[in-house]
Amino acid sequence: MPGDPSLRREGVAVPASPHRSGRPYRTARERMFEIYGDLCHLCGHHGAGEADHLVPISKDADQPIDPHAMRPAHGANAPCPVCGRKCNTARGNKPLTAVRPKLRTSRDWYAGPQR
Ligand SMILES: [Zn+2]
Ligand SMILES: [Zn+2]
Repeated sequence: MPGDPSLRREGVAVPASPHRSGRPYRTARERMFEIYGDLCHLCGHHGAGEADHLVPISKDADQPIDPHAMRPAHGANAPCPVCGRKCNTARGNKPLTAVRPKLRTSRDWYAGPQR
């Protein structure tokens, strides 16, 4: 729903978190790519270069650093070469159930890139 104050925080600098940087995170991230490859779990295309947490860190900051808790996704640094989405960024902290079906069936929520 629009107006949810938690959504306003997207784009604001995220506080340092062991889930976003540091050696344990980097190790888990590499493992994740070994396990799941580079297939984006949000749009279903290859070329994913970021780790998207299944449960957003903002929702559960104390979750374990676990490769199985993340999935490959496209991000701002490497948009999808097929559909052009920045899947991880577009998802923000929305629950997967709110994002996945829409990503596959509708572009209404996502404006660009367009010509
Ligand atoms: Zn994607
Ligand atoms: Zn894609």
